[in-house]
Amino acid sequence: MNLKVIGYWGAYPEPDSATSCYVISDEESKIVLDIGSGALSKLTKYENINKINDIIISHFHYDHFVDIYPLQFNSMIQQNIGKRKEPINIYTPYDPNYSDTMDYKTFTKNIMYNQGPIFDINGFITTFLKTNHVIDSYAVKVKKIGKSIVYTGDTAWSDELVDFSKNADLLICEASLFDGMKGKVEGHLTAGEAGKLANEANVKKLLLTHFPHFGVIELLKKQASKYFKKEIILAEENKTIKL
Ligand SMILES: [Zn+2]
Ligand SMILES: [Zn+2]
Repeated sequence: MNLKVIGYWGAYPEPDSATSCYVISDEESKIVLDIGSGALSKLTKYENINKINDIIISHFHYDHFVDIYPLQFNSMIQQNIGKRKEPINIYTPYDPNYSDTMDYKTFTKNIMYNQGPIFDINGFITTFLKTNHVIDSYAVKVKKIGKSIVYTGDTAWSDELVDFSKNADLLICEASLFDGMKGKVEGHLTAGEAGKLANEANVKKLLLTHFPHFGVIELLKKQASKYFKKEIILAEENKTIKL
């Protein structure tokens, strides 16, 4: 299983980059985790968009889902010119404002999840855990052939998330805040907490992402490394982690 970073900013994209978007793949298929602002352009740069059939949205904040809308036009045009046959499946939580807009004719199809069900998406066994965020938001765990990736989405500290992430081969963890900012922005983790989460969950590797727009990003890694002594990677466009 491989993980590729497409976008990694929190809130909004800096020039020539994107907010949350990651691709999980193996030889057979791919799943996209989140498609925030700026992500579609970068996704089409690094992937054949017509091979992407499944997108999981962690929650309905713009930095995680808003490029679904231009993607709906992409799917429409690609179907019209015969390059795409099927609609794109969009897995989302329920949201009264946005859920209805995820289905678009024959071009995108909404599949709602909550904490309960387990989905088999082309052999990727996918489960969800509600996190500690300002709106309904979910962490996602994807397993295939003995390997597992956990993506936190957006969250503040949660003991349940430690259990959910136990022994993962890779934890993709938000680090929106520098240490010392704990509690300053509701619903997010500091870099030190990301390290603590990785350590307590005994994961093998930690990928820090969902970066703030101030401060020195390298410092996030240093702060996480106080708690997590194994490999820590800072998210970077087109970075691929092989598991
Ligand atoms: Zn976010
Ligand atoms: Zn959010």
